[in-house]
Order: sequence, then structure tokens, then C-alpha cells
Amino acid sequence: MIMKKKYSTNALRAKKSLGQNFLTNKGVVDKIINAAELNSNDLVVEIGPGTGNLTSKLAEKAGRVIAIEKDSGLISELRNKYRDRAGIEIIEEDVLKLTVEDLRLKDSGYKIVANIPYYITSNFIRTVFEKWPKPELIVLMVQKEVAQRIMAKPPPKNGKAVSGQAPMNLLALSVQFYAEPKIISYVSRGSFRPTPKVDSAIISLRPRVLNLKPELKKEFFKLIRTAFAGKRKQLKNTVGPEVLAGTDIKPESRPEVLSLDDWLKLASVIK
Ligand code: SAM
Repeated sequence: MIMKKKYSTNALRAKKSLGQNFLTNKGVVDKIINAAELNSNDLVVEIGPGTGNLTSKLAEKAGRVIAIEKDSGLISELRNKYRDRAGIEIIEEDVLKLTVEDLRLKDSGYKIVANIPYYITSNFIRTVFEKWPKPELIVLMVQKEVAQRIMAKPPPKNGKAVSGQAPMNLLALSVQFYAEPKIISYVSRGSFRPTPKVDSAIISLRPRVLNLKPELKKEFFKLIRTAFAGKRKQLKNTVGPEVLAGTDIKPESRPEVLSLDDWLKLASVIK
């Protein structure tokens, strides 16, 4: 009989309030590690190491791992486990409240790998892109539907919507503004203990080089927030006809049909 490789977990002690669904499928851990494209010069910031399922593998391939965990109960176990492992630093902190300057990260000088609770996904991504130095690569476990929303594209200009493609949305535009997203693999709920109620996906986000003026960025986010707040309304009634004048965007369009480039063009008109 072929036995599936599994990690042991403390599933019974898992804290639901901290989104503790531990990854027990070694094949999925390997996919995350491969997606991070690690080498011995890499510094990895891991969020939510939990019991260390990913941490140990990350440390085998990367030069250094800084693991940030909020649960003080797990912190002592992690510190104990990695007591003699040079290159693994355990920090007890809520990643959303962290003073990132203390980590002394450099632009494009580190990677993020995170299997975090799904209720902090959007907030975490926003925090990283707006407040942290630019990571070289981010590999994240997210809820399957969130991965699909992040990958959304507008329908082709003169064609039909692609089946299975999520409609363009605020999260997709906000993420695609900063990075190129990719779905690495879908992950079934059975790969975690305790078993969550949803399926997941491993995604990678490769930050873009952004040479935009800060005013343009501000205008872009203001525009998309206004437009998607009334996403069933026509653009002439949300962003206003004057913004659309002189562009090839129909005033009757709804926000889902515009691409990232369309929004950037509109933002530059306003600016
Ligand atoms: N990496 C482990 C694995 O794959 O088995 C654990 C993943 S579990 C889904 C999420 C982990 O994130 C838990 O260890 C949890 O305590 C931690 N966590 C939850 N909220 C956090 C936060 N705001 N900052 C840092 N860690 C957090």
C-alpha cells in the first residue's frame, strides 16, 4: 500500500481565531518551496510559521529565514525546535502591526513566503505593497476563489468573456498594479489539518518595476475605488463624463470591462 507522506500536527490544539489550519501534505510544501525559487543567498520572510512545516524546508534552501508568528504558544515551541539552527530567526509579532523597519529589509533583497489566515490576505498584501520595501517575490497560500479574483482580466475588447475567468474587480486591479500574479497550483482542503471549509491555491506575486509619479498612483486608486463602489453603474455616473472625454472608453461602460492600462490612462488624464 502506498502511504501519502504527511506531517504530524497539533490539530486538536489549533486556534480557529488565528486561522490555524496546518499544512500536512508534503507535496504541497514542496510546491511552495519550488515556487519561491530559492538559493543560498536568499533571505526569506515567512509569515505564520505555525509548527514549522514550511520553515524547516525554507531554511534548507535559503540563506536566512525570518519567521513571524503571532501565537505566543507556538513561539516557544518554534524557538525550542530551531534552537541550534543558525539562519532561522523567530519573531513573535502580529504581521499587520510589525514595525517593518526593524527587519532591515532592502528593496528586492528578500522574498516572502506565507501560509496565513485567509481573513488577513487582502490586508497583508496591501500592507506589504504600501509599507514594506519591495520584495523580490511573494509566494502565498490563499483561498481558491481569491486566487481566481486576483487573476481577473477584462473581457477581450471585441469578444466574449472567457469562461471561468473572474470579472475584473478592485482586488485584482490593486494587486496587478503592483505585481504580476500567477496561480502555481490549486490545493484541496484535505491537505490541511484541521480541514478547512474551503479549497486553496498557491499563488506567486512578482512585483513590477513601477516608475509612476506618486500623484498618478493616488489618482489611480481613487478612481478605481470610486468606480467599483458603484460597479453596476455606468462610468459616466460614477467617475463622471468629463474623465472619459477624449478617450475611447464608452461612457456607458461598467468598470469590469476596463483594463489596468485603461485605468492608468484615465488617472493620467485627471492628474
Ligand atoms: N505555516 C504553517 C503551515 O503551513 O502549516 C501554519 C499555517 S496556519 C494557516 C497560519 C499561521 O499564521 C498560524 O501559525 C497562525 O498562528 C499564524 N498567524 C495568524 N495570524 C497572524 C498574524 N497576524 N501575524 C503572524 N502570524 C499569524
